[in-house]
Amino acid sequence: MIIIKSPREIELMRKAGEVVGKVFNALEGNIKPGMSTLDVANIAEKVIRDNGAYPTFLNYSGFPGAVCVSVNDELVHGIPSKKRILRDGDIVSVDVGATLNGYVGDACRTYPVGIVKESVLRLIEVTRESFFEGCKFARPGAHLGDISHAIQAYCEAHGYSLPREYTGHGVGSSLHEDPYIPNYGVAGTGPILKEGMCLAVEPMVNEGHFALRVMKDGWTARTRDGKLSCHYENSIVITKDGYEILTQAKKEED
Ligand code: MG
Repeated sequence: MIIIKSPREIELMRKAGEVVGKVFNALEGNIKPGMSTLDVANIAEKVIRDNGAYPTFLNYSGFPGAVCVSVNDELVHGIPSKKRILRDGDIVSVDVGATLNGYVGDACRTYPVGIVKESVLRLIEVTRESFFEGCKFARPGAHLGDISHAIQAYCEAHGYSLPREYTGHGVGSSLHEDPYIPNYGVAGTGPILKEGMCLAVEPMVNEGHFALRVMKDGWTARTRDGKLSCHYENSIVITKDGYEILTQAKKEED
């Protein structure tokens, strides 16, 4: 069942989402070669806790990190580690969940580390753009499959592929709620969107083939062909005539 949030709940979602936005503000431009993935996670965790929130992913189904930090061919669920050092030319996806007053904000950004190839910047950009292509259909009366289809069509037109095993999801007082939001699908199918639905839309885009494997740690998913994977996500709410992104920081007014 897809939960429709009340205006009060949406305001709480906005507040949780703002914390996630502040994490990205802190990370932007500050991820450098030589840092470990734990260093990155520690920056994120500090912002989350300094804002009175809790890192949602910590201990979620036993996940051992405050956020997920996935490098290069790692798609999702990278466990922060002081042994995993970022190098010039890498990309790093930082997936952040913050729970504040019982509601969750969930979003992800992929950052270049140092100087990366032009083709890598293009992958990052197309992944981000595919979120907005999908969200052109984030409005009352559209089908969920319209979002999925638009993400798939846009990424495949750029020569990329969409893994099948991981999807976006509803979000609210729980990290994962109905519905699943695949990054592939058929337009005109699936549930009809309604005002007040909160969705985490998250294109995960592979440079090569979509096949994955999960590492021995039980968490880290990587591409089978070793090519790059990129991830972009926001939590959104369906509004009267479109959508609003919840996971961005308010502009500082001082
Ligand atoms: Mg998510």
